[in-house]
Amino acid sequence: MSRVFNFSAGPSMLPEEVLKKAAEQMLDYEGSGQSVMEMSHRSKEFDGIIKETERLFREIMNIPDNYKVLFLQGGASTQFAAIPLNFMNGSGKADYIITGQWAKKAFAEASKFGNARAVASSADKTFTYIPKTVKSDFDPEADYVYICMNNTIYGTVYHEIPDTGDIPLIADVSSCFLSEPLDVTKFAMVYGGAQKNVAPAGVTICIIREDMLGRARETTPTMLDYKVQADADSLYNTPPCWNIYITKLVLEWIKGLGGLSAMKERNEKKAKILYDFLDSSKMFKGTVVPEDRSLMNVPFVTDSDELNAKFIKEAAAKGFVNLKGHRTVGGMRASIYNAMPIEGVEKLVAFMKEFEQANS
Ligand SMILES: *Cc1c(COP(=O)(O)O)cnc(C)c1O
Repeated sequence: MSRVFNFSAGPSMLPEEVLKKAAEQMLDYEGSGQSVMEMSHRSKEFDGIIKETERLFREIMNIPDNYKVLFLQGGASTQFAAIPLNFMNGSGKADYIITGQWAKKAFAEASKFGNARAVASSADKTFTYIPKTVKSDFDPEADYVYICMNNTIYGTVYHEIPDTGDIPLIADVSSCFLSEPLDVTKFAMVYGGAQKNVAPAGVTICIIREDMLGRARETTPTMLDYKVQADADSLYNTPPCWNIYITKLVLEWIKGLGGLSAMKERNEKKAKILYDFLDSSKMFKGTVVPEDRSLMNVPFVTDSDELNAKFIKEAAAKGFVNLKGHRTVGGMRASIYNAMPIEGVEKLVAFMKEFEQANS
C-alpha cells in the first residue's frame, strides 16, 4: 500500500490512525455486530457515540456550558442562509467583512433576507490580506457581525479577532477548526463544515451561545432553525451518524496528541518549514502578506504559468497531490491541515528545492 501526501483544500487528509480504527470497527462496532453506518440513530450505541463526540468537543475546545454544540447537515454553505434566517431579525441589519469567496457567498445569501452591509473588504488586492477594523466601523444596531476566520482559497487568517463590542460575532471556521485553541466566549456562534479538518464531508458543527436561540423568523424551514435542532440534541431527524463517529475518532486523536495547544505547535512547525522556504526561494513566492498568513492553506506561485503547470505535474508524479491553486488565484496551494504529517511538508519542500535547481 502506498498513500500519497494529499494537499487538497477539502475534502482533505484524515489521520491514518483514525482510518485504521474505523477499518477495524467497520464490521462490528464494539460488539454490536454491526457497522456504525448501519445502526439506528436512536440506538443506545449511537447515543453513546454522539454524546461522547459532544463531550470531547466541549473538552478539547473548552466550550462553556451556555453554548450548544450541534451536528447538522448541508455543509457550511447551508449555514450562509440559516444564519440570517435565525439571527437577522432584530434591526434586520448585519455587518459582513469580505475576505474571500466564502465570506462573499455568505454575504450574498444574507442580502436575500435583510440589510447586509459589507463593512470592509480585501477584494482590492485579491484577498491577500485581512482588512483592519475598529469597533466604530460596525453598526451598533446590527444583529450580528460575520467573519470568515480562515480563508481557505486565499490563505489568510485572523490572528486577532475583530472587536465588535456588544454586537454578536459569528465566524466560519471551516478550514481552521481544531487547528489551535480558540476563545469561544468571544463569539455568539462559530461553525464549520467537517471536511477540511474534522471528518469526511457531511456533518457541519455549529457552536451557538444559548441566548441567540429562539430568534428565528417564522418562515424559517424547520431543519434550519437552530432552536429546533438544539432542543432535539441534533436528533430532530437522522443525523450524519458515520461522520459524527469519525469526528469522535478525530477528537480522540487530537486529545492523544495533547489537545489544541499541541496541535497549534505542530501546525506552526509545519507552516514555518514551508513559509521559510518560500521566503528564501528565488522561484517560488507566497502570495499573502506575512502578518496574515494562514497555518492551514499556503498559496504560492512562480512567475510563469508553464512552470506552475510543470511543477504541479511533477509533484503529483512523486505523490504530492492536489497542489493546484484555486482558479481565482492560479499557481499552487498547499493545504496542510491537522492530519498532514510534518514529514509531508518536509518532503514537499525538499522536492521544491530540487525542482528549483533543475529549472533555473
Ligand atoms: C469549504 C468551505 C466552505 C464551504 O463548505 P461546504 O461544506 O462545501 O458548504 C465554507 N467556508 C469555508 C471557510 C470553507 O473552507
